Amino acid sequence: MSETILKVEGLKKYFPIKGGIFQRTIGNVKAVDGVSFEINKGETLGIVGESGCGKSTTGRTILRLLEKTEGSVIYKGRDLDELSKKELRHLRTDMQIVFQDPYSSLNPRLTLGESIGEAAIHHGLVSKGESRDLVLETMRICGLSDYQIDRYPHEFSGGQRQRIGIARALILNPGFVVADEPVSALDVSIQAQIINLLSDLQQKKELTYLFISHDLGVVEHLSTKVGVMYLGSMVELAPKGEIYKNPLHPYTQALFSAIPVPDPTFKKSRIILTGDIPSPSNPPNGCKFHTRCSYAKEICKEEIPEYKCVGSDHFVACHLV
Ligand code: SF4
Repeated sequence: MSETILKVEGLKKYFPIKGGIFQRTIGNVKAVDGVSFEINKGETLGIVGESGCGKSTTGRTILRLLEKTEGSVIYKGRDLDELSKKELRHLRTDMQIVFQDPYSSLNPRLTLGESIGEAAIHHGLVSKGESRDLVLETMRICGLSDYQIDRYPHEFSGGQRQRIGIARALILNPGFVVADEPVSALDVSIQAQIINLLSDLQQKKELTYLFISHDLGVVEHLSTKVGVMYLGSMVELAPKGEIYKNPLHPYTQALFSAIPVPDPTFKKSRIILTGDIPSPSNPPNGCKFHTRCSYAKEICKEEIPEYKCVGSDHFVACHLV
């Protein structure tokens, strides 16, 4: 049986809204509102949803780049809340992130070698004098050439910069990587190269990914399981084959109906969602999706649907399922 590497339970991240002359908290933006899931070693959980659904905040809160409001994150059997500062520092090398736009996280004054090597030196994995060999080795596995080590970020294309972003994460030899929209800013042909690279690296290094994207085609390619988020909540989660073949939640059905099919003779009926996404500072009562759901009943406006298992590893939150 596969080992559970990450267990997230009831995770919440609220951002306070301040107001009045005393700048008191007058409300909260509920960016992540009670999300639970598990990821096994070597698997990829893809998280999808419209912009603002809380998927990136979920990734960042798991990595403690943002302090959570409530809930627990258990990594390799250890609750992150119970770790000492020293243990947490060590853990930071094991849990890494690849950003959508690596350019903004690269210091324009540092060469590629310095940018990739600085985290390894900072965490004491190598000394400054020894870092070059490790940097070159990491560059090679990420598809970068040795001669590029002394170049600066502005000399690289978008795809190469993303390889640098991946190399910066991998030099620390992590077990778990949050990939936050890593290919969204890239051309389609370059997207394929980066996805293949992530996939190769996963196999070679037994990496576990949380892959965040709004692109269902990309998520399908890389994921083992897929979770769908709406307004800070997970509304459906299932193994990839199951959720793409048999989406049960009306929101998942609408999202998946928009995936293009590469067959001009195939007529697919697309479900068009009407209305805007409600504000996460004032989400609707009951099922948060009821204001846009064409199946909504009275109960949907009053009662929050239970997030329940409806089949082998298939979870859904809907009164009608
Ligand atoms: Fe639609 Fe009701 Fe299901 Fe929510 S609980 S998705 S409103 S049918």
